[in-house]
Amino acid sequence: MMASLNANPTIELNGGTVKSGALIDPFQRAITYLRVSVTDRCDFRCVYCMSEHMAFLPKADLLSLEELYRLCSAFIARGVNKLRLTGGEPLVRRGIMTLVTSLSRHLKTGALKELTLTTNGSQLQRYASELRANGIERINVSLDTLDAVKFRAITRWGELDKVLAGIDAAQAAGLKIKINAVALKGVNEYEIGDLLEWAHGRGMDFTIIEVMPLGDIDESRLDQYLPLSIVRGRLAERYTLDETDYRTGGPARYVRVKQTGGRLGFITPLTHNFCESCNRVRITCTGTLYMCLGQNDAADLRAPLRASEDDELLQTAIDEAIGRKPRGHDFIIDRQHQKSVLPRHMSTTGG
Ligand code: SAM
Repeated sequence: MMASLNANPTIELNGGTVKSGALIDPFQRAITYLRVSVTDRCDFRCVYCMSEHMAFLPKADLLSLEELYRLCSAFIARGVNKLRLTGGEPLVRRGIMTLVTSLSRHLKTGALKELTLTTNGSQLQRYASELRANGIERINVSLDTLDAVKFRAITRWGELDKVLAGIDAAQAAGLKIKINAVALKGVNEYEIGDLLEWAHGRGMDFTIIEVMPLGDIDESRLDQYLPLSIVRGRLAERYTLDETDYRTGGPARYVRVKQTGGRLGFITPLTHNFCESCNRVRITCTGTLYMCLGQNDAADLRAPLRASEDDELLQTAIDEAIGRKPRGHDFIIDRQHQKSVLPRHMSTTGG
């Protein structure tokens, strides 16, 4: 497989060009984006993400950092050129910078165009400079409110000041930041304009996410769910939202806010399905590959990874899994569907 990559570097697909040997799913979508949950643990307990008393995986079940590196490299050899570390909270995984440093080698060779991460920001003061020094250019920071009391209520355990200091440190280190906020009914719904102005005022992009029915939590999803069509309508009363075709390779659709000059993204898995252009798959910290965030089908890559030192079995397992990637998800939150259709939390699959 590696040989064919070098022998015949590109093929045509849907009018575009992809590497030969690339991962192409049954709907002719090239898989170029891998999201890796490096731990299911987190130092926050966001009410829409986790229940207060979570049972985490025994540490012995986790892939080692070396195994995670090998797994990521196997995908990169097949044309994955964007890799996001996530979790749980990626920066609470012990030794995480070892993995970042190893992966940054693929940036140097040009195989990887982007190495990035999604973080709650709590550890950024400690890690921002090292992340930048390892070739990370931009990161996503999740932040749902600028009100310290509300922040504590949403995250259960988090401290807003620490996250804001982390954002300062990241900007000082030269990292570009996108702020992601989950729209929560009755919680931050009337603060979204303020968050937007704050983010844009600091030169950061801002994206709003619809809450997704992933994993059982302690509250009803219906009480949390705020369709972004409503948020967008309200923002449009206050701001001029100009359509753009800017894309980052992720699911967000962006507008430019005339008054702030900044970019505003919408991730709308419920009100507007974004699956037709899906280019990504996710692996968990135990080496389970999820071909779709919103479906249950998965493939175990840990067994083939551990079964032999070369990657042949692993690549066969990856091919089989990509051959089963579904067309898309169908999340629903309404009165009949208040329970999660998917048992796993976002922290397992990686948000
Ligand atoms: N700990 C990191 C963080 O806070 O960004 C990375 C993992 S977290 C699971 C990734 C993102 O998923 C966060 O922006 C979080 O707000 C979002 N998220 C978690 N559960 C969600 C849900 N049920 N619906 C929508 N977004 C969710």
